[in-house]
Amino acid sequence: MLYIGCHLGSSKGYENMGREALSIGANTFQFFTRNPRGGAAKAIDEEDISKFLEMAKENNFGKLVAHAPYTLNPCSADQKVRDFAHMILVDDMMRMEYLPGNYYNFHPGSHVGQGMEAGIEMIAEMLNRILKPEQTTMILLETMSGKGSEVGSKFEELKAIIDRVELSEKLGVCMDTCHINDAEYNVVDNFDGVLEEFDKIVGLNLLKAMHINDSLNPFGAHKDRHAKIGEGHIGTEAIARVINHPSLKNLPFILETPNELDGYAKEIKILKEFYIE
Ligand code: FE
Ligand code: FE
Ligand code: ZN
Repeated sequence: MLYIGCHLGSSKGYENMGREALSIGANTFQFFTRNPRGGAAKAIDEEDISKFLEMAKENNFGKLVAHAPYTLNPCSADQKVRDFAHMILVDDMMRMEYLPGNYYNFHPGSHVGQGMEAGIEMIAEMLNRILKPEQTTMILLETMSGKGSEVGSKFEELKAIIDRVELSEKLGVCMDTCHINDAEYNVVDNFDGVLEEFDKIVGLNLLKAMHINDSLNPFGAHKDRHAKIGEGHIGTEAIARVINHPSLKNLPFILETPNELDGYAKEIKILKEFYIE
């Protein structure tokens, strides 16, 4: 089964996102839990959520991927920024339980000069504070491009975080094709090798979702600029190999390409044509 979708704006609620997803041929999607730059989330509308859950069930939606705000940095040097990250994570975990059993993706953080080890330690400490045994939500650490002082552009860094978290069964990884290609994992010429390495270091059983993006920049650029599928340095054929990879069967594939709904509809249509049942 191919679970494919894209990032959708969440301001109009879940039922609306479900409708939008269906209108573009998607059976999963990603959404921000709140304004991507942080700030207040909307009040929980249980009626909206229950209508959406009904719709998702009827249409066999795959796992959804919520995305944390970009401003969330558990390993900031500033205590206020870390406190903000904690507050947002606690609130988002509570909200996610209204959509039980889905994924919450976040950028592990930027160590801002404190060093990779210190960053990893602080991220793990934050996760240890917010994870609860009873939660049904799995937190996904996103593979990063390695711009600035980002933590998580090497599989070893993600593994080091996971190893320090007590409730590590609540953790998984979301792999972003633009980010890993930027981070010197060769999506175009050696994706098999990339997955082998991921398996050796982290374990393929922890790979739970894929962001499928082309990259404006060449291999190893550490820039994190997404391109439309086929308009970047990765290309449609390599992306088609990703969605067909036997190790990635049934994972949600989420487009985060620079598109409006009609553009996403086209990319989803093309990728469905490339998908071999
Ligand atoms: Fe992201
Ligand atoms: Fe991403
Ligand atoms: Zn990105």
